[in-house]
Amino acid sequence: MTVYLVGAGPGSADHLTLRAAHLLSKAEVVLYDRLVDPSVLALIHKEAELIDVGKRPGGSHTQALINDLLVSLGRRHESVVRLKGGDPFVFGRGGEECEALQEQGIDCEVVPGVSSALSAPLLAGVPVTHRGISHGVTVVTGHAMAGARVDFRKLANPEITLVILMGVEHRGLIAEELQAGGLDPQTPVAVIERASTTAQRVIRATLGDLDGLEISNPASIVVGPVAALNYSQIASLAPAVNS
Ligand code: SAH
Repeated sequence: MTVYLVGAGPGSADHLTLRAAHLLSKAEVVLYDRLVDPSVLALIHKEAELIDVGKRPGGSHTQALINDLLVSLGRRHESVVRLKGGDPFVFGRGGEECEALQEQGIDCEVVPGVSSALSAPLLAGVPVTHRGISHGVTVVTGHAMAGARVDFRKLANPEITLVILMGVEHRGLIAEELQAGGLDPQTPVAVIERASTTAQRVIRATLGDLDGLEISNPASIVVGPVAALNYSQIASLAPAVNS
C-alpha cells in the first residue's frame, strides 16, 4: 500500500542508493522511465511486473495516465516502485506524482537518487564548483514548456557554473542568449552524453561553438570555466572527445 518514487541515478547501477536497490528487490510492480539503464532493471525481483511508462514523442503514456496508473496500482499492491532517472525531484515530475497519490490517500515515499545534473559533470572530470573559479552552480532546464522558456540572458555569470538539462534541442538559442547576457564566446563548455553508461561521451568546446556540435540526448551541458578542467582518472568511464 505504498508507492515508492525512486531515483535510479544517471545510468549504471553502480550509482544507485542501497535503499533503491533494496526496494527493487522486493517490489511487486515496477514502473520505469525511458532513461533507466538495463543494469538497474536487472536488480528487480524476477517475479515483479514491469511496466514501461517511458514518454516518447507520440507515445501513449501521458503524465495524467501515469498518475492514474500509480493510484490504481498503489491501491492493489503492497509495494509499487516508480523508478525515475537521476533524482525524482530534479525535473522528474516526482512532485506531481506524489500529489496525485496523496490526494487519493495512498502512502508515498520518495527515495533520492544521484542526479545527472551533478554526476554527469563529475564523471567527465568536471568539478561543478572549484575554489577561486566557480562559487556555485545553477541547474536549469533548456526545454521550452508551452512556449515558456528560461531567459538565459539573466543566467550569464562567469563565476557560477551552469548545468543545463534537456538543452540539446535549443542549444543554439541558449548559447546566443548567454552571450547576449555578457558571457564570453570563449567560455568553456563540456557536453556529457549518457553519463555513467558504457556509451558515455564527453565533448569539450566553447560557448561560441555549442550550436554547431553534433550531440544527442540524454546529455548534460556544462557552461563555465570549470568545463575546461578534467580531474577524471578513469579513462574508460570518461573518454574525452575533444572537438
Ligand atoms: N531527474 C533526472 C533529470 C530528468 S530530465 C536527474 O536528476 O538526472 C532528463 C535530462 O537529464 C536529460 O535530457 C539530460 O539532460 C539529463 N540526463 C539524464 N540522464 C543523463 C545521463 N546519463 N547523462 C547526461 N545527462 C543525463
